[in-house]
Amino acid sequence: MALIVQKYGGTSMGNPERIKNVARRVLETQSAGHKVVTVVSAMSGVTDSLIKLARDVTAKPAGREMDMLLATGEQTSIALLAMALQNLGAKAVSLTGAQAGIVTDGVHTKAKIFNITPKQIHAHLDGGAIVIVAGFQGQTAAGEITTLGRGGSDLTAIALTAALKADKCEIYTDVDGVYTCDPRVVPDACKVDSICYEEMLEMASSGSKVMQSRSVEFANKFNVLFEVRSSFNHNQGTIVKTESPGMEDVVIRGVSIERNQAKVTLAGVPDQPGVAAKIFNALATDNVVVDVIVQTAPVDGRTDISFTTNKDELERADAALQVVAKNIGARGITQKAGVAKLSVVGIGMRSHSGVAAKLFDLLAAGGFNIQMISTSEIKIAVILDEDTIAEAAQAVHAGFGLAGDK
Ligand code: ADP
Ligand code: ASP
Ligand code: MG
Repeated sequence: MALIVQKYGGTSMGNPERIKNVARRVLETQSAGHKVVTVVSAMSGVTDSLIKLARDVTAKPAGREMDMLLATGEQTSIALLAMALQNLGAKAVSLTGAQAGIVTDGVHTKAKIFNITPKQIHAHLDGGAIVIVAGFQGQTAAGEITTLGRGGSDLTAIALTAALKADKCEIYTDVDGVYTCDPRVVPDACKVDSICYEEMLEMASSGSKVMQSRSVEFANKFNVLFEVRSSFNHNQGTIVKTESPGMEDVVIRGVSIERNQAKVTLAGVPDQPGVAAKIFNALATDNVVVDVIVQTAPVDGRTDISFTTNKDELERADAALQVVAKNIGARGITQKAGVAKLSVVGIGMRSHSGVAAKLFDLLAAGGFNIQMISTSEIKIAVILDEDTIAEAAQAVHAGFGLAGDK
């Protein structure tokens, strides 16, 4: 008998028929002789509409109340799945994050898990029940409801797998696994059979939202092997695990894109020590998340400093920069939304040269203008016009030979 953690995402739980489908699959697993803990997300669209509702009420909802609101999405799902399972004659019980023993810090809407004490889960499993846990939520030591950031049900599933020392973790979603690029953007993308944590993490944090990046970080830290697969068929999915011999032979594992980016430039900034520190400290104080940063070569003692951020952060970034720009004597601030990031990722880059040259050649051949570049050991990312990003991803994906059997 194995202990299996299964997570079903929003689309898989999207309507009553799909919830009944999930119930059948979960029961199948238990009937095969296993103990099952199921983590579920809110039904698709529910979290988005709750956020919209809050914004319709106030421009600045308090974090505590936001979490109180958002947690209801997953609470609806657990109750409905428990009912569907009970209707099939199964013994099933739903638990909120708090009831499952998930204790977090108090950073509302992006809380971190401190520890998990799954006493209730064990008790119900021992009693023969299928345990259904609300994803994406936890509770502080003081009893406040928290949520774990968008896509956080993945984190709940991975963290529970580690805490329960479960034998298997299966992440069920609406695609067959992790692909060489989002299959909705590049139709001839291929499912990969296995991928290492580092590559999955780079892809997730550069826009491949098939897995929440923090959940991959957690899996890497606690060595949780997991499989990403479809809830709509029984095809084999993608195994995410530690790097194994031969993995480095593949130079590029995948291409990621991230839309909704914006570029901000501070022009004519004095070329002096401490200036960049002032700019980015001001942004950090206002919690603006900065991504790619570029500084031009100085001319007459002044440089331009540009960075990208999410489009939604532009207003806050601008407010923070107005003050600091005056302080340091910058000549002006310009902003440009409508840009996106394209990244190529692969641990093979460590041992193969010429990847950047090939990427730039492919983009040049397609007439795509590169606005900014950033690199890490296993990633090269470029900022392009957002309206050409899908076309660019298709060209780069094909150019690196990623289409076809993987
Ligand atoms: P869930 O609701 O199950 O958590 P998500 O919508 O969060 O599902 O993630 C699945 C989606 O991720 C897919 O429908 C797909 O469009 C998108 N996606 C982005 N990049 C990739 C990729 N490299 N491989 C597979 N899917 C990807
Ligand atoms: N419902 C949450 C979201 O939409 C968490 C999740 O789906 O994983 O972000
Ligand atoms: Mg998700």
